[in-house]
Amino acid sequence: MQRISHWVNNKVVVGTSGRTGKVFNPATGEQQAEVDLASTAEVDAVIAKSKAAFPEWRATGMSRRAEIMFRTRELLDANRKELATFLTLEHGKVPSDALGEIARGIENIEFACGIPALMKGGYSEQASGGVDVYSIRQPLGVVAGITPFNFPAMVPMWMFANAIMCGNTFILKPSEKDPSASMFIADLLRQAGLPDGVFNVLHGDKEAVDRLLVHPDIQSISFVGSTPIAKYVYETGTKNGKRVQALGGAKNHMLVLPDADLDMAADAAVSAAYGSAGERCMAISVVLAVDTIADALIEKLKTRVPNIKVGPGTDPSAEMGPLISREHRDKVASYINNAAGEGATVVINGTDKAKEAGFFLNPSLIDNVKPGMKCYDEEIFGPVLTVMRVTSYAEGLKTINDNEFGNGTAIFTRDGGVARQFQYDVQVGMVGINVPIPVPVSYYSFGGWKASLFGDQHMYGPEGINFFTRGKVVTSRWPDPRTSAVDLGFPTNR
Ligand code: NAD
Repeated sequence: MQRISHWVNNKVVVGTSGRTGKVFNPATGEQQAEVDLASTAEVDAVIAKSKAAFPEWRATGMSRRAEIMFRTRELLDANRKELATFLTLEHGKVPSDALGEIARGIENIEFACGIPALMKGGYSEQASGGVDVYSIRQPLGVVAGITPFNFPAMVPMWMFANAIMCGNTFILKPSEKDPSASMFIADLLRQAGLPDGVFNVLHGDKEAVDRLLVHPDIQSISFVGSTPIAKYVYETGTKNGKRVQALGGAKNHMLVLPDADLDMAADAAVSAAYGSAGERCMAISVVLAVDTIADALIEKLKTRVPNIKVGPGTDPSAEMGPLISREHRDKVASYINNAAGEGATVVINGTDKAKEAGFFLNPSLIDNVKPGMKCYDEEIFGPVLTVMRVTSYAEGLKTINDNEFGNGTAIFTRDGGVARQFQYDVQVGMVGINVPIPVPVSYYSFGGWKASLFGDQHMYGPEGINFFTRGKVVTSRWPDPRTSAVDLGFPTNR
């Protein structure tokens, strides 16, 4: 059985905890590897290595750091396909999805290559007589990232690119369900010339996370995962004096107004609901259809959903792969199987596929969902699109704003005025106007509101640079010694 171990000081380091996790091939249902799970002592040892690497890395000039990131970008670009095979093997992604994830991840690497411009401070000459004031940004030290299974390449890139370019050393604790992509990326960073200890990968579960959250030498935690764990990570990390950005789960609504192009809306809803088997925090989970067009829209969805080709990522024509695990597939199936009993209408039931050895489901479509039903109230995170009928724009907006999550949302309309009002009123962090998955480009920042994000700073982009640095303001005077005198008054500006 293949064994996946840690990555420390630019080398594979075999775990000593005696604990391992199982890594499956979701398309076959078979275990294909085991991954070392770090003990508290192993976490401490990696933190010590990261801490030792920090002073020299911090002192490395920004141009040199950027040069390494440019090289990393070239290596990632040349190895897209190889990296994608890990996503297919361990996550189950089909090629278009795996390559898309990598492309969006690389955009974050490209952003971080601009670090000399991104770390610029401000300078005010002659803020007072002979006094200049300037601001600088400095790295935090050893920082950690804890990532979910659903983007094993992109989400780590959201974090480490900016973190290390700002001069920090970074410890990645990837999902134990699909750990190989992080090892492949670590080796590319080594090939690009990243010094030992600047980027370490520690595999593990709750034990490793809990140690990172309390260890005094960890300065910040970046987390992406489910809401209960995000909340726990935020509360524990901040209680222990750390800076924390913890992104959680989602329930993303797409509001379709009567004036929308219904074919375009149906294409968008199907793409955004079933891509990556619905295992995206930005997946569309609920279509809010205004009554007058709801039946027509359901008809259009009904004709599209059965055409989706479900299959293993090794089949180049497959459009939707399996779910991550047997347990998760069964949980998703339970939402579909319980929906009719709760009063919803199951238009397409994809649970037949659950009989296969791989963790597959076919896409499902559920109409007439309402708050109070489990399939509406909870994050399903699977290939299930639900439709809620609303009487008006106002009711659709209220439904979105009443939801506990606020990650992404979209409105489909031809009316610019209504779209602008929506953008103004909606209590959600990322908004699409005729765009179903509005993941911000790398030079903006990614983050939801409400139960979708705990902390103040969003992920990547300018807020990522802020997150991974501390501001310092220097007030400076180079006085002429001839003007020196004792003055006990409070310093005032002249
Ligand atoms: P998860 O919360 O189960 O795991 C995320 C990370 O936390 C993993 O590294 C895991 O090892 C660790 N972890 C799990 N249980 C823990 C515990 N009890 N204590 C400490 N650490 C623990 O999430 P997942 O199933 O890997 O990913 C899916 C979830 O992530 C979904 O809810 C999805 O919406 C969310 N997600 C959110 C975003 C976003 O940007 N908001 C992006 C991707 C995924």
